[in-house]
Amino acid sequence: MGANRIAVVVESRDPLRLGDFWARMVERRLTVDSTAGRCAMDIGRNTDVRFVPAVQSHSGANRQHIDLASDSPEHQVALIERALDLGALDADVGQGNVPWRVMADPEGNEFCVLEPRREYRQSGSLAAVVTHAEDPLTVGRFWSALVGAPLIRKHPEYTSVRYGGTADPALEFVRHPNPPEGRGRLHLQLLARDGFVPRTVVPDALRPCPVCGEPSAALTDPEHTHLCVSVGCSPAENR
Ligand SMILES: [Zn+2]
Repeated sequence: MGANRIAVVVESRDPLRLGDFWARMVERRLTVDSTAGRCAMDIGRNTDVRFVPAVQSHSGANRQHIDLASDSPEHQVALIERALDLGALDADVGQGNVPWRVMADPEGNEFCVLEPRREYRQSGSLAAVVTHAEDPLTVGRFWSALVGAPLIRKHPEYTSVRYGGTADPALEFVRHPNPPEGRGRLHLQLLARDGFVPRTVVPDALRPCPVCGEPSAALTDPEHTHLCVSVGCSPAENR
């Protein structure tokens, strides 16, 4: 039995334009559905990123963000320059003097361009999808069970769920004393294999995800972060 796939869903005012920004950042091909005004790109074997029309306006910080990996200090600089050329801005989230660069994409979604790190050598261009959590261990365990991939780092300040041997981003949970509330502009969608999702994490009464709609069903993780699940869909059917 393999693990479940994950989609990072980004709500956007202009999904095709925002998708283009990200596709250029990570040098992936965008699959565009112009009728629905949405687009997507594959990242690694088990992950894709989807840009969908926003169903409500959001202000403030997101609870989740993307970390980009770099291979060398020169590569990190090149990624930062590329981001600035494509319309990103530097962002101040109170990070202080850190070796990674905190930026915001053209719609204000925070992301980081990381300095080279050993633990992301096996990652592709996306090092991690990071969720701020009050209790990284509890939330990390929840996601590990949901995805069907091991919790490989268990530190009180951060935990990490990682697919084995693939160039997928890690799912990381980093302690934050007051994570931003609400859905934010990013959420994770679990693309569950048929029969996988345990009843303990999916209540009987599911409502459609307000962003993804059918056939996705909305629920929350133990800290009330929105996520959605689509059950029994192959990746191709789920597009
Ligand atoms: Zn959804």
